[in-house]
Amino acid sequence: MQQNLLDFDVAQLTAWFAEHGEKPFRARQVLRWIYKGGESDFDAMSDLAVSLREKLKQIACVRAPKVMREELSDDGTRKWLLDMGTGNAVETVFIPEEGRGTLCVSTQAGCALDCAFCSTGKQGFNRNLSVAEIIGQLWWANRQLGKDAAGSWQISNVVLMGMGEPLLNYDNTVSALRLMLDDHAYGLSRRRVTVSTSGIVPAMDRLRDECPVALAVSLHAPNDQLRDELMPINQKYPLKELLAACKRYLEKAPRDFITFEYVLLDGVNDSEQQARELVQLVRDVPCKFNLIPFNPFPQTHYRRSKPEAIRRFRNVLMQADIVVTTRKTRGEDIAAACGQLAGLVQDKTQRTVQRPAALHG
Ligand code: SAH
Ligand code: SF4
Repeated sequence: MQQNLLDFDVAQLTAWFAEHGEKPFRARQVLRWIYKGGESDFDAMSDLAVSLREKLKQIACVRAPKVMREELSDDGTRKWLLDMGTGNAVETVFIPEEGRGTLCVSTQAGCALDCAFCSTGKQGFNRNLSVAEIIGQLWWANRQLGKDAAGSWQISNVVLMGMGEPLLNYDNTVSALRLMLDDHAYGLSRRRVTVSTSGIVPAMDRLRDECPVALAVSLHAPNDQLRDELMPINQKYPLKELLAACKRYLEKAPRDFITFEYVLLDGVNDSEQQARELVQLVRDVPCKFNLIPFNPFPQTHYRRSKPEAIRRFRNVLMQADIVVTTRKTRGEDIAAACGQLAGLVQDKTQRTVQRPAALHG
């Protein structure tokens, strides 16, 4: 079987080259072709010896996940639906903004954590994505979008906020992160790569020590009682432990704040009283808040908060000197706000049947 080179981070690729009698600088050359050049054809890698090209053609390939569908929104948001085999699909979303382009990447097909408001969670867990399937989303999107006038890829930022819990697919996620950061591959700054987690405390500590990047934590409730209900993982890692882990993370993080994500659910977690409780909760964690209007999907009983409630909630945080952004809903015409597509993904839990696309905020 041919080895997919997208499955290796830099150290692994170098080791694999050594096993095949090739020098480390050859591995770096190939990396540059693959990631800086977007090249998958070994014949086009013109500075490699012909014999090496021939050898690579026999034993290796560069293969991103298969794209089942591509959609383009009126606002420039693009969404690719990727085939993960055996009825599984995940999606990748590109969000162009003034001065930057952000790719929202998935790390698992489905998710085991079953947050009450999340349509990925409603599918149950299908499987972890491989390194090639994670980095392949960026590789593929870069190839599709091409470079800007200055010769840089259009994707300047990556957020792991698509389907799945990245820190429950830790090893593959970290290998993919290393490729995003490595100068021979994409060379993105650690500040421009964000992992979003529901709060897997031990893995947050590992990430801090092994591959610190910007961190977003899904909070969604100001106390354990409500968070237990919305996010069952809170029963394992309650708020006190989670916030302590956030503080530890900041000791080595590339940014000096944690981004807290907070999905606003009408009448559930969006009152001014709850906003005040939240201010108290996070008072000794340097943070910014990203308020996310809930994206409804057919099987949910939750509703998006009213604009007036969102404004009031935001004001309470701002009056406490917390920087708040309210996520714009992008690509709604193609159901492509950062995140999740449910419709074509097999439901392994039988909790819900197939449904149209429903996505994160
Ligand atoms: N599993 C990780 C990352 C993927 S989810 C996490 O939970 O952080 C990315 C973000 O989308 C999370 O903040 C998640 O809570 C949010 N989200 C999930 N379902 C949503 C919905 N229906 N509407 C808006 N945001 C949603
Ligand atoms: Fe999983 Fe994140 Fe969805 Fe929760 S919000 S079910 S952790 S993908």
